[in-house]
Amino acid sequence: MSKRCILADVMLAKVARWLRLAGIPAMDVPAQGDDAILRHSKRSKAILLTSDVALSLRARKRGITSILVTQHDLDRQLAYVIRSLRLNARTDPAETFCPRCCSPLNRVSPEFAARRGIPDAIASRYDGFYYCRRCGKLYWQGTHWISIRKRLARVARLAARNSAL
Ligand SMILES: [Zn+2]
Repeated sequence: MSKRCILADVMLAKVARWLRLAGIPAMDVPAQGDDAILRHSKRSKAILLTSDVALSLRARKRGITSILVTQHDLDRQLAYVIRSLRLNARTDPAETFCPRCCSPLNRVSPEFAARRGIPDAIASRYDGFYYCRRCGKLYWQGTHWISIRKRLARVARLAARNSAL
């Protein structure tokens, strides 16, 4: 399991977001333009995810680990990245990262959620609340989480399959 930071180019921002939901720290590249992206990846020793063939080749020439993602379907893109980097995708939100800013999430009580402005109807209905200390965003395990877990389970099955992605 890689401990290095994963950086996704702008075309793969959605992949990065889903990797975070799967407990894998992945960020969007905080730079624009290929040269800046390469400099940043090199400096932070990050793994670069890109769907740009030319950029991927340039990265490899500079000794940057780069995964070229050519799939168009999000499930397949995720499965390919997870398999290529031998990542360990998780579905427990206690082990995942904030999809917005990539910080670890902390489990909090419904009372805490209510104090943060979550309506009582929601605070009393759910008990799995997760809070991001860095950006202040609050998540809870409502119907949205169920569909997230379903997708992650589907991706895990795809990644485990032997056929080419
Ligand atoms: Zn956050």
